[in-house]
Amino acid sequence: HQQDVLSRASEAALSKDGHQFEVCANIGSLSDSQEGVRLGAEGVGLLRSEFLFLHRDREPTIDEQVSIYSDIGQALGDRPLVIRTLDVGGDKPLPYLKFPDEDNPFLGVRGIRIHRENPRIITQQVEAICQAAQDHPIAIMFPMVSFLHEIQEFKALVQGICEKKSWRVPKVGIMIEVPSAALQAEVLAPEVDFFSIGTNDLAQYTLATDRTHRQLAKTVDGLHPAVLQLIAKATAGAKKYGKHVAVCGGIASDLDAVPILMGLGIDEFSVSLPMIGEVKDEIRKFSRPACRDLGQMVLTLGTSQEVRQAARDFRS
Ligand code: PEP
Ligand code: MG
Repeated sequence: HQQDVLSRASEAALSKDGHQFEVCANIGSLSDSQEGVRLGAEGVGLLRSEFLFLHRDREPTIDEQVSIYSDIGQALGDRPLVIRTLDVGGDKPLPYLKFPDEDNPFLGVRGIRIHRENPRIITQQVEAICQAAQDHPIAIMFPMVSFLHEIQEFKALVQGICEKKSWRVPKVGIMIEVPSAALQAEVLAPEVDFFSIGTNDLAQYTLATDRTHRQLAKTVDGLHPAVLQLIAKATAGAKKYGKHVAVCGGIASDLDAVPILMGLGIDEFSVSLPMIGEVKDEIRKFSRPACRDLGQMVLTLGTSQEVRQAARDFRS
């Protein structure tokens, strides 16, 4: 079975009605990007850039960053690469980053919110990404966007740097992983080039349940109907302005979620490396009209268990 999956993995993922869904990889290193290409990824939908910043006493220099982003771009050839800016918070402190002491780090200074206290780090990272983007199809993505003004500030940062250096401005996207961003999708979509829905955090914040909690984490399911409603809302908002929508959270790699996400109208699945071929094969089994009916139906269900059962019935 594994060999069969791999042999088809380099081919496009066309639904039964002939629509191509993009299948990209979530990665966190240069070697992941090489592995992604081997496993059939059509690009990288999420480079978690934390790997460059963790386990060291000093932040990486701009040159160090340009070099690694370019190496990853090189490994991907003409495939697109989405680099997410540093996404850490008080629960994952770095020795050289200033974090306030917080009672609720998941609701505190994390994602792009770290910029206010550490403007040099994010500014340098944006510069490095923009520089690497001059030679490779690289887009920049900001995590944990909760307010409209954050997009405007970070776009201004990207544009300011590119203007000063006479660089082309790369595509700018945002993670949709906070309920406010999903609910305001129609307002945010005109401001950006793409959305990438982070269902891990979106489920955590929608269900008000810590995704790392020892007892409760298993209830944080991206297939909960409340989370699916937010995915539907975010996707519809983006589509109103013709913007690209990826899902890079864990459910993109979950076979039960594949026909539902196809039905809700996303463009791209960005998945863990071992699931690239599997997700492509799953997409090939279904046609969009049937998936749309499934997608609308599951929004009316009561629990994630019911959604999973409906998905399994549909898939079997
Ligand atoms: C997410 O929140 O779904 C996501 C993809 O980002 P991370 O898992 O890195 O928080
Ligand atoms: Mg996240």
